[in-house]
Amino acid sequence: MLHDVAIVGAGPVGATLALVLADGDLDVVVLDARPAGESLRGDRSLALSHGARLILERIGVWAPLAAVAGAATPIVEIDVSQAGGFGAATLAAADEGLPALGYVVSYRVLQRALDDALARRGLPVRHGVSVSGVTATPACARVDCADTTALPLLARLAAIADGSGAAVEGLVRHRHDYRQVALVARVWRANPHRGRAYERFTPQGPVALLPEGDHYSLVWTATPERAQALLEASDAAFLATLAAHFGTRTGGFTRVADRRSFPLALEFARQPSALRCVALGNAAQTLHPVAGQGFNVGLRDAYELGQVILDTPRDALGDRPMLERYVRGRRADRFGGVAFTHGLVTIFGNDVPLARWPRGLALTLLDVLPPARRLFTRAMLFGLH
Ligand SMILES: Cc1cc2nc3c(=O)[nH]c(=O)nc-3n(C[C@H](O)[C@H](O)[C@H](O)COP(=O)(O)OP(=O)(O)OC[C@H]3O[C@@H](n4cnc5c(N)ncnc54)[C@H](O)[C@@H]3O)c2cc1C
Repeated sequence: MLHDVAIVGAGPVGATLALVLADGDLDVVVLDARPAGESLRGDRSLALSHGARLILERIGVWAPLAAVAGAATPIVEIDVSQAGGFGAATLAAADEGLPALGYVVSYRVLQRALDDALARRGLPVRHGVSVSGVTATPACARVDCADTTALPLLARLAAIADGSGAAVEGLVRHRHDYRQVALVARVWRANPHRGRAYERFTPQGPVALLPEGDHYSLVWTATPERAQALLEASDAAFLATLAAHFGTRTGGFTRVADRRSFPLALEFARQPSALRCVALGNAAQTLHPVAGQGFNVGLRDAYELGQVILDTPRDALGDRPMLERYVRGRRADRFGGVAFTHGLVTIFGNDVPLARWPRGLALTLLDVLPPARRLFTRAMLFGLH
């Protein structure tokens, strides 16, 4: 049997694509290695832009998500600063006439809302199916799996949202190792956060504090050695070091929990399509978490791919012109997301004292020039098109 679309991976990105396609009259099959009811990355917090909220609204997921108490914490202001130099900027939702610049949501809660929406729309996910390889002929894609008799499965188009793109033949991903790790944790302060996020650039790398529920979600970039020392430090020593890092901008940290770390690398498929296949979300690009762009770019991949598929006649699904149309449409936003994130890490996250002055100037200009601030904020909210 030839399906129209096979979606490999029903994480946040693959599930979003499936929900966009629910509006069409297509034969869509969705596969995921995780067991039903479980989420892959239960402990992760995701930074969602206002634009991402609009996508979740369109696929009917935002309302049930927002109805879960504490599931989506609004970010109403972002305070951007650098350690050891002048210059700071504040981005505010009020300046954009929006209720929030973005939201911090739990990966697990978002995944549950997406899974529920898929079930409501009659699009069941085949759980527990681990795809081992995706190959293709000019006529169709073939999805193989090691441990089920239900496969191989044939489809006009295979959309790969498995978070790595590992199984796709012909997909080339470039990798840049930052030789740094992200230390993540939950931290509490004596004063309520009032929806204010902090992004601080330090010579060792950026540090972000995102408001989430009654605490902050911390993402702290550091060398592997320093991160290890911070992981092993006592709670009191860790909080004191964090407070020193933020200087007078914040402080008063009272508690830390769930410290862990992961290595940081940029992985990017310049050409996210191969014969009859297209990669999206983390399978197409894995970005440094500095500006919270990764998930938002992935969500826009899913939405735009869904629109292209819905606008394509069934017989033309997965053919080269259709894939090229999608890839061309996403180029500016994907490359922009990489350049923006990578630029922030390399320009703002270095230890060269001479760079502090231009950095300070850039931050001051951002703060005092409303058009520059507006441009920057809109890129954060909606991406680059
Ligand atoms: C280490 C790390 C930390 C991050 N931290 C943050 C953060 O703090 N904030 C933030 O906003 N973003 C963060 N991100 C980015 C964020 O996690 C991603 O943008 C988001 O998870 C992308 O969703 P996705 O659906 O593309 O992939 P994933 O979330 O990885 O989902 C992939 C899905 O595919 C399934 N799957 C995988 N392999 C197979 C297979 N072979 N066969 C079938 N199914 C398969 C999995 O079970 C899963 O359900 C982080 C990313 C990484 C890698």
